[in-house]
Amino acid sequence: MSDRLAIVVPCYNEQEVLPATVETLCSVLKQLSGNGKIAPDSFVLFVDDGSRDDTWKLLCGYHESNALVWAQKLSKNCGHQSALLSGLMTAMKYADMSVSIDADLQDDVSVIESMVDQYREGCEIVYGIRGSRKKDSFFKRSTAQGFYRLLSAMGVKTIYNHADFRLMSRRAMEELSRYSETNLYLRGLIPLLGLKTGEVVYERGERQAGESKYPLKKMLALALNGITSFSIKPIRLVTVAGLLVLVICFAAAVYALIAYFNNDVERGWTSTILSIWFLGGVQLLAIGIIGEYIGKIYNEVKRRPLYHIETLLDQPDVK
Ligand code: UDP
Ligand code: MG
Repeated sequence: MSDRLAIVVPCYNEQEVLPATVETLCSVLKQLSGNGKIAPDSFVLFVDDGSRDDTWKLLCGYHESNALVWAQKLSKNCGHQSALLSGLMTAMKYADMSVSIDADLQDDVSVIESMVDQYREGCEIVYGIRGSRKKDSFFKRSTAQGFYRLLSAMGVKTIYNHADFRLMSRRAMEELSRYSETNLYLRGLIPLLGLKTGEVVYERGERQAGESKYPLKKMLALALNGITSFSIKPIRLVTVAGLLVLVICFAAAVYALIAYFNNDVERGWTSTILSIWFLGGVQLLAIGIIGEYIGKIYNEVKRRPLYHIETLLDQPDVK
């Protein structure tokens, strides 16, 4: 018996693209279960993220007429990451593996098959990697790539050019459920699970219908969340800046004292300039040190799991 797959699709005001999405994803399911790669009772789970258009009405209709369509409605708009997590937490209960994908069909559904193949070979997580972003606008492409670089400079472990198109085994979803973060950035969390992973590369297409639900404001919020949820490096930069100012202060002190003893300064200039630099440096350093503790508190309150068990060899089976 093959394993049951749930394709998890967050939807926010997606009425234009939904008919195409339902058709495409259902035909993927039929094809895979026809090949015997997934169980025939696999399903697509749509998560309506508090849409204000007819998304939910459409989903109810599809659910009535099509056994492959499951739908879950959130009480309000909670954002892409939370909507996706809610879908994965439902999928975890009913399916052996999930594939998460956006509703707009920008990600190539034909690679789902090779994701499933890798799962069958033992991978717990399979990342969909965008081979090229020719179809994305220049703006989207350059901001996204700049963001990935910034993240890795900040020491956050991320998969380059991977968005939220990925396969996860039930075990991976269960490990993910041990995290209780409210500032959710799934792309940063999944690599922390440390399970066996695979990759498939694909070409990212254009949105099939409707408009992007990620305006600049949401993109910036996601980016900021990605950095501040995973890195306390920005705080450390404050400490470094404080130390730098103190070094400059020392150089300024030498210069100011020479000028003072040569008598070519106004009265009061030396003490004013020195105290400005010195106090500035001390203040920055103090903020940085306080920040280090806040960083520690921040990491503590997240209560992230400290480990994920890979194998447990317990009592041997006595036959
Ligand atoms: N989405 C969501 N809630 C939101 C915003 C977006 O569930 O508040 C969903 C949206 O319906 C889509 C996915 O997140 O399935 C990605 O959005 P979109 O394709 O508009 O982003 P882009 O590809 O432009 O970055
Ligand atoms: Mg999209």
